[in-house]
Amino acid sequence: MSLLIKNGRVITATDDYQADILVQGEKIVAIGKDLPAHDAEIIDASGLLVMPGGIDPHVHLDMPFMGTFSSDTHETGTRAALHGGTTTVIDFVLQKQGHSLREALDEWNSRASGTAVGDYSFHMAVTDFNPDTKAEIKTMVEQEGITSFKTFMAYKGALMIDDRQMTDLMQEVRQQGGMVTVHATNGDVIDYLVAKHVAEGKTSPLYHYLSQPEVTEAEASARFTDLANYTGCPGYIVHMTCEGALNAVRNATRRNQKVYVETCIQYLLLDASKYDQGFESAKWVMSPPLREAKDQETLWAGINQGLVNIVATDHCPFMWEQKLMGKDNFAKIPNGHPAIENRMELLFSEGVNKNRISLNKYVEVACTNPAKIFGMFPKKGTIAIGSDADIILFDPKEQHTISAATHHMNVDYSAYEGWPLTGRVKTVLLRGKVAVDKGECLVPKGYGQFIKRNKVSGKI
Ligand SMILES: [Zn+2]
Repeated sequence: MSLLIKNGRVITATDDYQADILVQGEKIVAIGKDLPAHDAEIIDASGLLVMPGGIDPHVHLDMPFMGTFSSDTHETGTRAALHGGTTTVIDFVLQKQGHSLREALDEWNSRASGTAVGDYSFHMAVTDFNPDTKAEIKTMVEQEGITSFKTFMAYKGALMIDDRQMTDLMQEVRQQGGMVTVHATNGDVIDYLVAKHVAEGKTSPLYHYLSQPEVTEAEASARFTDLANYTGCPGYIVHMTCEGALNAVRNATRRNQKVYVETCIQYLLLDASKYDQGFESAKWVMSPPLREAKDQETLWAGINQGLVNIVATDHCPFMWEQKLMGKDNFAKIPNGHPAIENRMELLFSEGVNKNRISLNKYVEVACTNPAKIFGMFPKKGTIAIGSDADIILFDPKEQHTISAATHHMNVDYSAYEGWPLTGRVKTVLLRGKVAVDKGECLVPKGYGQFIKRNKVSGKI
């Protein structure tokens, strides 16, 4: 089975040219001018951008959290991702305290395997680092292809590890060829502020925001960066939101250190004024919270300075009824918002169309860097001979609007309801198959494959 994509404008992280792309089986086998069709099925891409499938390296599907589960399963979440032009996601396996990494991986495999529609991989979140856990790191890297280990400096008593565990973990992960990623906020300070606000009867979603001031993220980002520098372990900070945190990484460049930085689409586009809407604000209760206009400016600039490497989502949707668990206490609102389907179109519309980033930078931060940093390049993340045929055909001019009434995520509200978009995903190929066309998903549940990842070098 061959497909020939004709007359498109091919965009990668570095190139921009008119060409045809020939796909055979799951791979791209030729790129050139006026390629002959032979018996290939022809897809006409005239007037369209032809880009690599998006990679969202930060999603939480079917995740047990705060007494409930995030509402998108691996099936609904990866299908919604495909509709939005994201062909691969990296989900988080959460170790339970007192249990092994293996048990957690088995649990996640039981939910994702045979149900995912799009391709996926896993990060392993280490929440209980002890000699037994330490012995499992090598197996995860070498046998399972899980090369990134997520840590939490917050959520004390549930997910947080302390600096002693962090240092030990970093030394082991470095030795095994992996990377440590981090939710970098100061858990002790946040716990204190949450308890103080609740004791004072300040229980609305606004106090979720006021319990996680910028300093909690800036301090932890600097501490993580220092420990990564000391241990020599490749480091990656997830969902960075603010100027103070990015400056910690900027300062580290002065001692020739590189720490990777991910931000998420919401931190570029939304701000803390969302917390002025009474309980409605629960839609945007996430950690870290939305910040200020000056932070958005810093993050956009950081992308262009090469300090911010990836734009992800931290997709973690909850139905409105689940959000209501916190109607009397912000600390009980399940944290997270839905965005897996909206990231590629929002970043194009707000980033490329509004001239904040170039077209090549768009592909770099949404597709190529996630593949490079997490050990999937050049199988994923680019358009090249030999790469997986994960390709999106994108109309840069079509106008449409985001709405919960038309989205495919399993959640009954949109965090971007009514948001006008210029630019739309028209057709999506995943490993050589037309996965989405004209708003229809054409691949079945279970088509998605687990992607084993290579060791990471900490260099891209
Ligand atoms: Zn997350």
